[in-house]
Amino acid sequence: MPTFEPHSYYQNYVDGQFVDGGADRIVVDNPGTGAPLAEQASANAADIDAAVAAARRCHESGVLSAMRPVGRGRMVRAIGDYLLANIDGIAHLLTLEAGKPLWESVVEIEGAARYFEYYGNQAETLEGRSIPLGKDYYDFTTYEPRGVSAQIIPWNYPLEMTARGMAAALATGNTVVIKSPELDPLTHLYIARAAEAAGFPPGAVNILCGVGSEAGAALSAHPDIDQVVFTGSVPTGVAIATAAAQNVVPCVLELGGKSAAIVCADADLDNLIDSVRWGIYFNAGQVCSAMSRLIVHESIAGEVRERIVALAESLSVGPGIDRPEFGANMGAMISKGQRDRAVGMVARARKAGADIATGGVAPDEAGFFLAPTVIAGVTRDMEIARSEVFGPVLSMLTYQDESEAIAVANDSDYGLVGGVFTRDIDGAMRVSQRIRTGQVFVNEWYAGGVETPFGGYKKSGYGREKGREALMNYVQTKNIGIRIG
Ligand code: NAP
Ligand code: MG
Repeated sequence: MPTFEPHSYYQNYVDGQFVDGGADRIVVDNPGTGAPLAEQASANAADIDAAVAAARRCHESGVLSAMRPVGRGRMVRAIGDYLLANIDGIAHLLTLEAGKPLWESVVEIEGAARYFEYYGNQAETLEGRSIPLGKDYYDFTTYEPRGVSAQIIPWNYPLEMTARGMAAALATGNTVVIKSPELDPLTHLYIARAAEAAGFPPGAVNILCGVGSEAGAALSAHPDIDQVVFTGSVPTGVAIATAAAQNVVPCVLELGGKSAAIVCADADLDNLIDSVRWGIYFNAGQVCSAMSRLIVHESIAGEVRERIVALAESLSVGPGIDRPEFGANMGAMISKGQRDRAVGMVARARKAGADIATGGVAPDEAGFFLAPTVIAGVTRDMEIARSEVFGPVLSMLTYQDESEAIAVANDSDYGLVGGVFTRDIDGAMRVSQRIRTGQVFVNEWYAGGVETPFGGYKKSGYGREKGREALMNYVQTKNIGIRIG
């Protein structure tokens, strides 16, 4: 049964209606061809106002917050079911607008559905405490939704990042206003349809695309939102948190990283290569928790380099739509701008004395491609070791002893994730204790899942997404004390 119906124009979704944007339209490109794909309505500040007002009305009506949580949880889960029931069509569109291989789009949509399942299941499990105050009182806490959750979404996993915040917000009884990314907003149509199909009333879910400096800025500065959830770059995170602070609105910020894997002399190299494949070449390296630095013991640096170069050169790079099956392949980057930025960073690394072991060049094709890249001979002071590339570019550094490896890993403004590859459990635990990141992977990059809390130390942000812990971002505690007469 074909479920994919391409449109030439996609609208925003406000108060249960599909609407045009006050800021006209955005042209969305196909990164696999470099050609325009479709148009998307672009919201202005007035559209954001209307969406926030609708979300506020819906919240205050109590239609979600007053429900018995099991019912709300089932509705949240139904959003995920809708996505899975329509996965072929959604994956097709996601690949066309985001450039990733078709099989990676399927992985992303399954991941999005998983958030709705996970948080839907937890809706009825949030319970307050009773606090003993002696025989004259009963005292207890309850968790109430914050209200209107504003969520500003990056382009690297448009559906999965939306699902992550939206599922937890709805499960706890909030309403949401989502600013989708201008580079790949089209599949959000299916999130809106899924919310409708699941029975969410007008105003519960609002999804608007628009440019960050206009729609995003208007949303984060809006006086009638109750929180901002943001994933993206550090400067934008600072701008959003600064705007929200004027209204004393809390934020959850997930701001990327420059994450390091320490490879010890005794590491299982077959296992390491598998982690490198996922860690830096999945989604063409456009992942906030990408394995972008590899800190390798000098005794095995030559062999590791050789094997990673072979891996990089084994990946066939081209349009995602021609790559339906999991395998040795990679798609396009999201935009010419992001691709050219990465190429520029590689060129500057070469100038700074690093050795481009493979890749670093844009293939002679129309799409926004970058060959899988390995840079050896990187030192910790180089730009390539310090700044997020957000592309398929791995920097290799070497070390002599454990303390040096940890010092190099921690020599970063970021602190999102880190990893260690070794057969020595003591060494693995010493490194895990000393790495200053929100998550540590031992012997498998991305070990964890929807269930495990995710978020940064240092400039990688604050607050945690995913896991049970993230639910607490979306509620506030009320204490009720009762004096017994
Ligand atoms: P970005 O500027 O941080 O964009 C993320 C989201 O914020 C987008 O929806 C964007 O809108 C919006 N935005 C931009 N300026 C805003 C403002 N002043 N107020 C409110 N919202 C605003 O990131 P980018 O420009 O797409 O990418 C730049 C770099 O950020 C990348 O190279 C990468 O290093 C990093 N990045 C990190 C992540 C991550 O997962 N941690 C994700 C994406 C990017 P538009 O859609 O109009 O841009
Ligand atoms: Mg941008």
